[in-house]
Amino acid sequence: MEYRTVGKTGINASVIGLGGESLVEPPAKEVEDIIAAALDRGVNIIDVFMPGREVRGKIGRAVKGRRDKVLIQGHIGSTDIHEQNDVSRDLATCKKYFESLLTDLGTDYIDFGLFFFVDTPDDFSKVFEGGLLDYALTLKRKGVIRALGASCHNSETARRIVETGLVDLIMFSINPAFDMTPAESDIYELLDDAKLKQNFDFHIERSRASLYRLCAEREVGITVMKTLCAGKLLSADLTPFSGPMTVGQCIHYALTRPAVVSALIGCKTREEVLEALRYLDMSDEERDYSSVIEHYQGDFRGNCMYCNHCLPCPARIDVAAVSKYLDIASVTQGRVASSVVQHYKALDKHGSDCIACGSCEKRCPFSVPVISNMRRANAVFGL
Ligand code: SF4
Ligand code: SF4
Repeated sequence: MEYRTVGKTGINASVIGLGGESLVEPPAKEVEDIIAAALDRGVNIIDVFMPGREVRGKIGRAVKGRRDKVLIQGHIGSTDIHEQNDVSRDLATCKKYFESLLTDLGTDYIDFGLFFFVDTPDDFSKVFEGGLLDYALTLKRKGVIRALGASCHNSETARRIVETGLVDLIMFSINPAFDMTPAESDIYELLDDAKLKQNFDFHIERSRASLYRLCAEREVGITVMKTLCAGKLLSADLTPFSGPMTVGQCIHYALTRPAVVSALIGCKTREEVLEALRYLDMSDEERDYSSVIEHYQGDFRGNCMYCNHCLPCPARIDVAAVSKYLDIASVTQGRVASSVVQHYKALDKHGSDCIACGSCEKRCPFSVPVISNMRRANAVFGL
């Protein structure tokens, strides 16, 4: 398993984690098997947004005795008062549900306390300008939550959340189809079979791309929901692309966005856990998603998609990584955050190692001017 540090927290999360919703239906024994299969292979992060006490209890029993090996994302404001997954901004209601989460899981702390479903300007105001923020900060001071974050599906609201400087983590919906739909789209409407294709406009959505860079620059980690677009990207009939993607390609797309720490996968069976974890043994060629999206160049042209289809490089430069740090540095256009410089310097090879052979530019499906980017990286970061 590979682990990445969540923002500035010092907490290391596995690059593949478990989404919680798929654990609602299976009986308790199967949930135990699913979670054991994941934890036994190094998965250490599980999202528990679900308000239902039964599923929380199942998860609590499944992690019993291994609580210190699991990072739990718990949500503040997820309720089932009127229907499953209702959102509440009422302080007393949020407290009640959060406290019962601790009881149901049999724990006295939650690793990541996330404000639930903060998508609209109204959500933002109610959470960050009302009593909920004080409540969450008090939980953090008392050690009941180790870090604070929010779950969100809207890039503009997510940007506002990151800019508060109060969060370490955003749980955000990321897959190549969502990254190409207008920022104002309702993500849950897109999961309707017909609407994903209707709304798809074959252009990378700039506000989403810039959100990921901002998160990297501010050291806010991202955990990914909807990694597989509810399975639609795996289906030849439902995908908006010319062909289906594999689970591994979807995971790789998520993990190659800046700031992403962990791709959370909803697994209904032990076999689905193993299929997701097969990603770790895949070759670079198997992970490469560029063939799926290269036909939709649009705004991609000239912009690195971090796919590394251009490798091998004779100078052994990780072109995607250098390009990613260069893009993150462009967020500030001047003073580059020291953490970004450190990450860049930690690479084995740098822009300065480029011998301008041009082989990457011939292989890049997105016409990226790699040689010029390597020179720019050298100018920005030195080395
Ligand atoms: S330069 Fe092109 S092929 Fe290489 S990582 Fe970027 S988009 Fe992919
Ligand atoms: S041009 Fe530079 S980055 Fe591209 S393959 Fe050659 S040495 Fe590597």
